[in-house]
Amino acid sequence: GKLVKGLTKTRNNIVQGIDAIFSGFSSIDEDFYEELEEILIMADLGVKTTTAIIEDLRAKVKENKIKDPSECRELLINTIKEQMTVAETDYEFENRKSIVLVIGVNGVGKTTTVGKLAGQYKAQGKKVIVAAADTFRAAAIEQLTEWANRANVEIISQKEGSDPAAVIYDAVTAFKARNADILLCDTAGRLHNKKNLMEELKKINRIIDRECPDIYRETLVVLDSTTGQNALAQAKEFNEVADLSGIVLTKLDGTAKGGIAIAIQSELNIPVKYIGIGEQIDDLQKFNATDFVNALFE
Ligand code: GDP
Repeated sequence: GKLVKGLTKTRNNIVQGIDAIFSGFSSIDEDFYEELEEILIMADLGVKTTTAIIEDLRAKVKENKIKDPSECRELLINTIKEQMTVAETDYEFENRKSIVLVIGVNGVGKTTTVGKLAGQYKAQGKKVIVAAADTFRAAAIEQLTEWANRANVEIISQKEGSDPAAVIYDAVTAFKARNADILLCDTAGRLHNKKNLMEELKKINRIIDRECPDIYRETLVVLDSTTGQNALAQAKEFNEVADLSGIVLTKLDGTAKGGIAIAIQSELNIPVKYIGIGEQIDDLQKFNATDFVNALFE
């Protein structure tokens, strides 16, 4: 369905090349592995993940005494799936009262993600509040207001340039007063000033700790898949300044660099929880590694 369609460009990028070597080589030799390696790296899987996949594939080929490259396809698919298993992907925050911080650099899709999640949770019958704590961009506040109106959920906001922590304070106060189920907080992402960002996140977390000590907390970092390896680098940086519980990978629909989902899942022990495959509310989907790889190799 939508996932298969959304991954079209990535599939063309990875699978066409791979299938060409599976049918183009008559034996599994060093040239075969070299070409496969090149394709995976070009498809944004990154050197580390690619190396791990190739090593694993070599072992499987040997173990199964496989001679024909065409028999490698299934093995490769399984190898990639195995690379993507992380500790555990839990969606506990969706099943209990929770406060969700959505972080990430500008333009990656934070506001859109908050809007889509708000719409989905509201449709599930949850009492949702969104907080416009990206106060550095007037457009972010306007955009989130639009999403909130469309989803018919309450939005807590102040004017552009106000203290994000003050917005968060108002939001957690409303969260408690309304006995809401989920509070989704959009935040400003200025990773170039790591110290400021860290201080800001600390301040926000301190307020939530103080006002809502018993409420479950989720911190999602949003990454733009069209930036390829850069998304992986950002994930690593945010992982240093925040206690990340999950990743949202956006814009997979417009890119051939969707292989980054494999690299991220393989290199960081943080689950990708949601993927964005379009601009509509239901174009934000829960991520499942098996479905993802199946859609890629369909
Ligand atoms: P923010 O600065 O991180 O809050 O980013 P925005 O939420 O404003 O998103 C930036 C742009 O990316 C907007 O034009 C969104 O419509 C677009 N966008 C976000 N997620 C997706 C997605 O999954 N697919 C596509 N095609 N566009 C997206």
